[in-house]
Amino acid sequence: MSIMHEGAQSLPTSSMQSLDDCKQQKEQKEPNKRKIPRDVELDIEYLYESVPQLSSVFRITDKIGEGTFSSVYLGEAQMRDGRREKFALKHLIPTSHPVRIAAELQCLTVAGGKENVMGVTYCFRKEHHVVIVMPYVEHQAFVDIVGTMSLEEVRHYVYHLLKALKHIHKFGIIHRDIKPTNFLYNRREKKYALVDFGLAQGTPDTRIELLKVVKSKSQKGGGSTDQSAQALRKEPLVPLPPNGRSCAPHLSTKAPVKRLSPLSRTKHTKELMGLSKTSRVFGERNLNSANSTKNPTDKPEGLAVKPTRTDDASRRLVHAKRRPFPVKALATEQKAKTAAVNPSLTCNCYMTDRICNICLSRKQQVAPRAGTPGFRAPEVLTKCPNQGTAIDVWSAGVILLSLLSGRYPFFKANDDLVALTQIMTIRGSRETIQAAKKFGKAVVCSCELPRLDLRILCETLRGARPHEDDSPPAASRASRRPADAQPERRGGSGNAETSAELHELGWHGVPDDMYDLLDRLLDVNPATRISAEVALQHPAFQDISD
Ligand code: ADP
Ligand code: MG
Ligand code: ZN
Repeated sequence: MSIMHEGAQSLPTSSMQSLDDCKQQKEQKEPNKRKIPRDVELDIEYLYESVPQLSSVFRITDKIGEGTFSSVYLGEAQMRDGRREKFALKHLIPTSHPVRIAAELQCLTVAGGKENVMGVTYCFRKEHHVVIVMPYVEHQAFVDIVGTMSLEEVRHYVYHLLKALKHIHKFGIIHRDIKPTNFLYNRREKKYALVDFGLAQGTPDTRIELLKVVKSKSQKGGGSTDQSAQALRKEPLVPLPPNGRSCAPHLSTKAPVKRLSPLSRTKHTKELMGLSKTSRVFGERNLNSANSTKNPTDKPEGLAVKPTRTDDASRRLVHAKRRPFPVKALATEQKAKTAAVNPSLTCNCYMTDRICNICLSRKQQVAPRAGTPGFRAPEVLTKCPNQGTAIDVWSAGVILLSLLSGRYPFFKANDDLVALTQIMTIRGSRETIQAAKKFGKAVVCSCELPRLDLRILCETLRGARPHEDDSPPAASRASRRPADAQPERRGGSGNAETSAELHELGWHGVPDDMYDLLDRLLDVNPATRISAEVALQHPAFQDISD
C-alpha cells in the first residue's frame, strides 16, 4: 500500500482531552501513547530556533505534515479567555520565492475562511523563515477511509470539495494541486477544508492581486516587460547553504517579504488578535521585530503568553542540534529548472536517431505544470499554455473516481506521458487525441484504447458487479490497463469486503447520476468540462443543501 508522498500523517487522538495537561502527565495517563520521535523533536526545535517569536505563543507538540515546500506542525496557544486552542503552523521552505509566499497568504486571507476553504489566523516571519498559522482541522488520512466510505458520504465529500472549488474559482484562483491531502476532511464533525495554495495561479481576471504577478512570471517564462515582474525577478532568492540551513545574514534584514504590500487582517484573525486594530497578517511590527519577544506587549493580542515555554527555551538552546530544513525533495525544483534536452531523444522529422536542428532550435514551451501527475488534467500533461480553473475540476474527478472505485491512488505515474497513457486507457485514446487537438496539442498513441464504461470499471474494481461471471468483457477491459496503471487496492483498516457490507454502504445501488457526474468531471476536453458551479447543480446532488 502506498500513499501520496506528502500524505497526512495520522493525528493525535487526544484532541478532545484537556489540553492543560503537561506532557509528563499525559504520558503517565497514557503509557501507550506515541512518543514524539526524536527527529520530529529536532524539527520542532529547529522551528523554534528559526522563528523564536513562536515560542512565546505556541506550544508545538507534533509534526502533522511534510511536503516538498513546507512542514506543518501542530501548536497550541492559550487564548485570552483562557481556552487553549489548536493551530496548524505551516513553516515554508526558506527558499520559497517571496511573491509565492505572499500569493499563498493572499489566497488564504482574501478567499479563505469560508465555503470549505482554509483561512489564516496569523503569520510570523523571521528573516527568510515564514510560518503561516491556520485553524487546526483534525482530519483522517484519505487512504485510511476511502474503502470504508458509504455512497452517501462520498456524495457529501465531493459536494463539499466542489463547493470549495466554486468559491476559489469565483476569485479567479486556480489551485493547481487538488488532491485528497490538500482537502482536509473531519469525518466525525463533517468538516472540510481546502488547503495549500502554494502552487495556485490566477485566471486573467483574478481578484488575487499577487496571483497576477505569479502568473505573469511563469507564463511569460521570464521574458516579461511587466514592471512588477521585473522588480520581483531581481529579488534575491535566499540561497540555501550546503547543510540545508540558510543563515545568510546579508539578506536577513531586507527579508524578502518586506517589499510586498502588507495584507490586511481578516475576520479569521480575530480570536488571536482580538483588540489589535492595526496588526497585519504580515504583522512584523508586532511579531517579527527582533525585540518582539522582549516586550510582552508586543504579542498578538488575544493570545496569552504560554507560561512554561521559558524553561523549555533555555533547555533548547543547550540541546538543540543544528538541523537542515526538513523537506523531502529540495532538489526537484532546481532539477526542473535546469532540465535540458535529452540527447538520447529523437524527433520524427527526418527519421534519424537524433533530434533535428529545427526541433532543437524550437523554444521550449513554457506552461505551468505544477501538481501531482496522477491528478493532472490532460491539458496540463500536454503543457497546454492556456490552462484554467477546469484543471481543478479534473482533479476533483480523479478523486471521485477513487471514491467510486475504492482505489487510491487511482492513477499512479511518475511522469506525464505515463499519466496521459493511463488517462487514455480509461477515457479512450481517440477521445483524448481529439480533445488535445482542440487545445492545440498533437498526441500520438501506438494503439487504440477504447473508452471504458465508468460504472463497469468502478464496480469491477470495487467488487460490486452484480454478476461478475456474466461480464467477462468488462472485467478483461478493466484489467487491460497497463500494469503500472493498476490502482492500489484501498488501504487502511476496516475495509468493506463483503457483499453485505457493500450493500449497506450503498455500493450496490449507485445511481446513473453519479457516473454521469464523474463523466462530466473527467471530460478530457477542458472547453466542455463541467464547471464546479454547474456540477453543484447536478442531479447527483439533488437533495444536498450544505
Ligand atoms: P504542502 O505545501 O507542503 O503540501 P500543505 O498546506 O498541503 O503543505 O500541508 C501539508 C499537510 O499538513 C496537509 O496535507 C495536512 O495534512 C496538514 N495540514 C495543513 N494545514 C492544516 C490545517 N489547517 N489543519 C490541519 N492539518 C493541516
Ligand atoms: Mg499539500
Ligand atoms: Zn525534428
